[in-house]
Amino acid sequence: MARLGIMGGTFDPIHYGHLMTAEEARERFGLDKVLFVPSGHPPHKKLTDVSDAEHRYLMTVLATLSNPAFEVSRVDVDREGITYTVDTLRDLHRLYPDDELYFITGADAVLEIITWKDAHRLVELCDFIAATRPGYPIDALEEKLGALYTDCRECFHFVEVPALAISSTDIRARVREGRPIRYLLPESVVYYIEKNGLYLEGRK
Ligand code: ATP
Ligand code: MG
Repeated sequence: MARLGIMGGTFDPIHYGHLMTAEEARERFGLDKVLFVPSGHPPHKKLTDVSDAEHRYLMTVLATLSNPAFEVSRVDVDREGITYTVDTLRDLHRLYPDDELYFITGADAVLEIITWKDAHRLVELCDFIAATRPGYPIDALEEKLGALYTDCRECFHFVEVPALAISSTDIRARVREGRPIRYLLPESVVYYIEKNGLYLEGRK
């Protein structure tokens, strides 16, 4: 039985915050593999507000290339309609029936989980690893989650990640404004963005 990390996201674009978090979680929790799962159409964003799924998929492949423990899944990109995490987890459960699944996410996103579709089913499908920036009050978050998921206190784990200030939103704004993005994300992804003229205008 393998321990499989799942890093879901829009990855528009993927950056060192995502990569660092996945690597830290892999090492801390002895994960055999981390599967990056670029979303199809995320529920909280307009379709026109998100880059083409194939661009986001390819950037994720480029960014994860050098790590033998990282892989990219197309389950969400290939599924029709809005991407709900519960569908992602069900699909991966089917694809990896013998593996233990660990869903890796930002700590703030973990609090949103309770508002997600079929939230109570999620903890039956996987454990959660929540990334926080160093110094984040984990105790308060743990207490809140423990109160909500009384039967599943051990379903939530925490990991501190130093690169948490990086965001895709900021990277897109920088491209639009002609400011530098090097060193926030892998060089191959910077080249991909330039070559395809991503993030030059319009949306945030
Ligand atoms: P956007 O700014 O467009 O919302 P983002 O940088 O938050 O993008 P997402 O693709 O939305 O990236 O995030 C995917 C997952 O990675 C989420 O679980 C999110 O909480 C987490 N995440 C985002 N940025 C970081 C970071 N710097 N460090 C650790 N985790 C992060
Ligand atoms: Mg985000």
